[in-house]
Amino acid sequence: MSEGPTYGFDTLQIHAGARPDPATGARQTPIYQTTSYVFRDADHAAALFNLQEVGYIYSRLTNPTVAVLAERIATLEGGVGAVCTSSGHAAQILALFPLMGPGKNIVASTRLYGGTVTQFSQTIKRFGWSAKFVDTDDLDAVKAAIDDDTRAIFCEAIANPGGYVTDLDAIARIAEEAGLPLIVDNTSGTPYLCRPIEHGAALVVHSTTKYLTGNGTVTGGAVVDSGAFDWSASGKFPSLSEPEPAYHGLKFHETFGPLAFTFHGIAVGLRDLGMTMNPQAAHYTLMGIETLSLRMQRHCENAVKVATWLENHPKVAAVTYAGLPSSPYAERVPRICPKGAGGLFTFALKGGYEACVKLVDAVQLFSHVANLGDTRSLIIHSASTTHRQLTEDQQVAAGAAPDVVRLSIGIEDADDLIADLEQALDQL
Ligand SMILES: *Cc1c(COP(=O)(O)O)cnc(C)c1O
Repeated sequence: MSEGPTYGFDTLQIHAGARPDPATGARQTPIYQTTSYVFRDADHAAALFNLQEVGYIYSRLTNPTVAVLAERIATLEGGVGAVCTSSGHAAQILALFPLMGPGKNIVASTRLYGGTVTQFSQTIKRFGWSAKFVDTDDLDAVKAAIDDDTRAIFCEAIANPGGYVTDLDAIARIAEEAGLPLIVDNTSGTPYLCRPIEHGAALVVHSTTKYLTGNGTVTGGAVVDSGAFDWSASGKFPSLSEPEPAYHGLKFHETFGPLAFTFHGIAVGLRDLGMTMNPQAAHYTLMGIETLSLRMQRHCENAVKVATWLENHPKVAAVTYAGLPSSPYAERVPRICPKGAGGLFTFALKGGYEACVKLVDAVQLFSHVANLGDTRSLIIHSASTTHRQLTEDQQVAAGAAPDVVRLSIGIEDADDLIADLEQALDQL
């Protein structure tokens, strides 16, 4: 479905990347449960390995089911290509891999998913990479953090857990002036609510585990390539602009133009790091993504209702939802995420840490889990779980202070969600 009329989002979330199976006519995308693909002959095999012909070699690199999902996500985000991965965290490493080298750094927002803060502040050091964390509302601090070894700026569009909305346009301008790619984690936003490439992002990463799959069944990730970044302009990205020793000296940018990053992500990234999405996972995510817009509408509607109710509750100190007029980020919503501020937010309890821990035990309909973006409503006390490895300062900066509970509002009846929170708050 690549050529032809321009379709709207609701049509593309069902059709982009998919076509009736050429062998059987199967209308739904089959699960190609195979590791390898028979070459037509020795010349065909050689052409595939030389990347002169696009086709399937081995499922660590590409698989037809996964390819449909990659094309669908790329289309929904307005990118030219995407690489699917085994998890969101894998997508982050795959996004950075072609850009980085020992001694290089990224400038990253302090408001990130807890696991990302740990990945960037600890684990990437073992590759000789590092991250400088800054408050992305302080544009001077973002600029000041950039040095000659910086290779990317990284932020979330709608930052988990606080529902903070990043001024992507402002950060993209800084990235552009510095000749750096802006990488946006759009997991909480989803392309239905927010389209980071339209605001200047060079790459978009996803944990497809969350809203894109939407049913809490499989982990997965994706890196979407805008195709718009000039990898050759600065000489800072030799893996893409110069002969790549890991692929017999191929110059990816010269050879593949706007698809350089996507090809590198598959031919070098997935080939050597092996963080591949499997076709079963792609199938579950394809099932979920068909209803993305419908779910996101309901997630947002319910979040507004629950957040409004909580804001007026006497035991609640504060609610962070950007979809509330009282939020300092409310004015960014129409520009950055015009269809809604998402389904995630936190609220602070006057009773502090103890009250938060009691609350997560007292709810019945909400599930106490370390996930988000499910059709079910979820609750977690971030400071004692997902953000536990962070210092208290890091927790506060990330929007996960000890007196704060995070909700991922599902698509149930909003009245039932409110009733559950009411009976739980009554027990405090
Ligand atoms: C969950 C999440 C991740 C990590 O994704 P996994 O699929 O769990 O590896 C990264 N960023 C955000 C915003 C997330 O919510």
